[in-house]
Amino acid sequence: MTISDFEHAIDCGPGQHRTRNADRDVIALGIATAAIILFVGTGGIVLPQAIQSIAGYGIGPDKVQVNALLLNIALIIFGWRRYQQLLDEVKVRRQAEAQARVLAETDALTGCLNRRSLFSVANEMCHALNGTDERIAFMMVDLDNFKRVNDYNGHSTGDVVLKQCVARIQEQLPERSILGRIGGDEFAIVVPFEKARPHGIDRLAIAIIESIGQVLEVNGASLEVTASLGIATNEMRTGFDSANPADAQTYLHMADIAMYQAKQQGRNHYLWYEEPMESELRFRSEIEKGIRRGIPRNEFVPYFQQQIDLQTGELTGFEMLARWNSPKLGLVQPDVFIPVAEAIGVISELSESVIAQALEEAKLWDPKLTLAVNISPMQLRDPWFAQKLLKLLAKGNFPPQRLEIEITESCLHENIGVARTLITSLKNQGIRVSLDDFGTGYSSIAQLRSLPFDQIKIDRSFVTNLMENQDSAAIVHSIALLGKGLGMPITAEGIETDEVKEMLRQYGDIKGQGFLYGQPQPAGIVHQWLETNHLLGSPTNTPAAEDLPVVEQNNAQESDPHAGAA
Ligand code: C2E
Ligand code: CA
Ligand code: CA
Repeated sequence: MTISDFEHAIDCGPGQHRTRNADRDVIALGIATAAIILFVGTGGIVLPQAIQSIAGYGIGPDKVQVNALLLNIALIIFGWRRYQQLLDEVKVRRQAEAQARVLAETDALTGCLNRRSLFSVANEMCHALNGTDERIAFMMVDLDNFKRVNDYNGHSTGDVVLKQCVARIQEQLPERSILGRIGGDEFAIVVPFEKARPHGIDRLAIAIIESIGQVLEVNGASLEVTASLGIATNEMRTGFDSANPADAQTYLHMADIAMYQAKQQGRNHYLWYEEPMESELRFRSEIEKGIRRGIPRNEFVPYFQQQIDLQTGELTGFEMLARWNSPKLGLVQPDVFIPVAEAIGVISELSESVIAQALEEAKLWDPKLTLAVNISPMQLRDPWFAQKLLKLLAKGNFPPQRLEIEITESCLHENIGVARTLITSLKNQGIRVSLDDFGTGYSSIAQLRSLPFDQIKIDRSFVTNLMENQDSAAIVHSIALLGKGLGMPITAEGIETDEVKEMLRQYGDIKGQGFLYGQPQPAGIVHQWLETNHLLGSPTNTPAAEDLPVVEQNNAQESDPHAGAA
């Protein structure tokens, strides 16, 4: 539906103000008609008398009647002009009213229907097509990473991008479709289609995504924007009372859930709504609530995994890995809660809480043991991050030299400048910085050289299958050589077998970590283990890790982080 269609709908549709204008038109027309009838009446008497008088055989018209006729003519002229005036006034007012309605019911930037009017027009369509062979597809379209376009190019460029995207969507839409802007970069489309031809809707979804994905030229810059799209139709079972069929808002909500899933699955594609999506969404919102509630309650706890010098077999320290001890869900792994905590903006709080607890623990260990902690890319962007960390160290009375920060390779690409500043300032405080998950993020050697890392950690995906996969072996070997060349120590993660350990030892001076030495363990168990091996407090002779009992993880221990606490 275009703006002019919409104006037309407003002009033609029923409405109170329209009835009032029509009433006024009828009264004005009535007065004019009465004057004309009177004119015909008096004229019919006066004119024959005047003609007879001119012809010389009459006494001429009655003066009173002539006056009445003249008055009547004046009245008609006056009435006609007034009628014209009224018509003009009504026309201007109607235009103003229509314009006001257009403004109230459309989005000023893009000219699409706004949220409220989209729902009402879509509901009208639902009612109109009820019981026919036509169905309605509801689509939600959301631009991917539009915030970035705004942040990097400014809001005026963002506005142009939105307008161009709308034009591209509109080009694809079949007749009778409705397009509305629901939020900043979110659009809703309502399209009627023949029940027997739902594939047309798939084609439309693909066409919309492809057309948005074409390069945009804005103010001389080439921009690329992609979109994710979700679809629901009014034929889908909704779990609602069938006697009360769902309204447009419900179907658009379903389309929104499908769109959200499409985003989760990597963006730039479309999905049809399916019922399990709803429960996934509910699960996600439960996790979000649980995380917010769990942080102040210290439900997030540190687990620790040993790091070993592969040549000597000595324990060098631990990597702290967060766990969520959720009262509802049990022990939750970080792969589940870290991305959610990042998405809802509480990762810093969560991380500070577990780091503080880890420092309290590590303080009790042999001072030569290091503590490595993982840092999210979002924390890296926080200009106060270094300060916050130093505050934690000061509060926990923990020497910075014993702390290692692990930054993943993938977050460097987003923030190389910020990363450099941060790494430098952390190093100035004596904290060491490792590049985590190396090999997965395509860091260039030049980048590696330009960033003052203290250590590289080879991603476990290359290490674990070292024996079976020759490519992995070649990659690990060359990373080991690279580390040697750059003078950077290397840690290999994911060592699960003796064969892998032996192979790695041949590659040179490498530290290692993996299930072979032990799974991440709660603070209590680690403490007890260190105590048994005289690795608490002041340094003693460090036993070789191979002589130590491998702490096997079992579920009971994992579910109770304080199990075995001294
Ligand atoms: P990561 O930093 O790469 O941590 C290593 C992961 O590999 C850990 O998973 C660990 O349990 C697992 N692992 C260790 N040895 C082996 C092995 O021999 N075989 C296999 N298959 N896996 C092994 P986890 O604890 O589930 O942590 C997953 C990721 O979550 C971590 O990957 C890290 O990126 C992130 N993470 C954990 N704690 C935190 C935290 O406090 N803050 C942030 N930002 N991220 C965290
Ligand atoms: Ca790590
Ligand atoms: Ca890693």
